[in-house]
Amino acid sequence: MKKVKLVIYRVAKWTGIFHLFRKLTQNKLRILCYHGVSLDKEHDFFDKLFITKSTYEKRMKYLEKAQYPVVSLESAVKSLADESYPKCATVITFDDGWSGVHSEISDTMEEHNFPWTLYISTYYMNKQTQVFNIVFQFLLGTSSVDRASIILPGQETEQTFPLSSQSDKDNFYHSVSEAVYANMSAEERQTFLEQLALTLKVDASWIFSNGCFKYITTEQLKELFKRGVDMQLHTHRHIFPPENLEKSETEIVENRNEIERLIDNTTNHFCYPSGVYDKSQFLLLEKLGIDSATTVKNGLNDKNTNKYELYRFLDSESIQQIEFEAELCGFASFVRKVLR
Ligand SMILES: [Zn+2]
Repeated sequence: MKKVKLVIYRVAKWTGIFHLFRKLTQNKLRILCYHGVSLDKEHDFFDKLFITKSTYEKRMKYLEKAQYPVVSLESAVKSLADESYPKCATVITFDDGWSGVHSEISDTMEEHNFPWTLYISTYYMNKQTQVFNIVFQFLLGTSSVDRASIILPGQETEQTFPLSSQSDKDNFYHSVSEAVYANMSAEERQTFLEQLALTLKVDASWIFSNGCFKYITTEQLKELFKRGVDMQLHTHRHIFPPENLEKSETEIVENRNEIERLIDNTTNHFCYPSGVYDKSQFLLLEKLGIDSATTVKNGLNDKNTNKYELYRFLDSESIQQIEFEAELCGFASFVRKVLR
């Protein structure tokens, strides 16, 4: 399917259809979504979550060369109602706060003079431990052992888990995660990750020694803010449960307090963690004075788009350059509608 799509894109580009679609969609707003930038080989395993510095730089060069004006999220949201942003305006957003946004791409953004927004979840920034579930997924996904013997946190006796099929691995993942999150602090989880790497016989030294899968520090957040990066909300613990409005509110308030104590600005834009939300949460966003919320749904935005359901295009190492170009010109949205 992907191969067919790529052929269609290439033909469309060569025959001028990309150019035509860009004209047809020039009044729509594009929002790009990124997550992590690799410090090492994170993208080899998480190619939808991470992008390499070199691929990212290619994308930024393309935006400049193809003349997609990069505008700030704030100005784009303000001009959405009358579509008064520049033609083909593009917003760049990063989710979560992975440390590569500071060390790998902040200079590139300054060189291009591109404004960008960082939606940050503050819990892992404050803790400065590696993100447990991501590192655990890597360890389990790359392990070749067919069983693992381990004392689960909160238990006293060792258990042996088979790991020969995907459902065995899923079972192990859920049992361990449940026990870990119920019984361990972030610091204890960090030590346990190193134990898991030994049990699963995975060489994860590159992860631990290079500080991969960590978030930026509070000092780095302050520095990025001073350099003009727009810091916005993504909840404190990366959860926004639609069934629990009280918890949803606490998550945003805590996140906002944590960000605003570090920067001399207010936060008024939000990004749903993992793209999970329900329309019943819109009233809460209104109450908290939030001016926009971005999803992980693909598409372009215009005056008819709900400000709490903004579409984005998720770019990563798994996306080929031609796909990126197809999304920007609006042809990819058209193809999705036709194939639906
Ligand atoms: Zn996120």
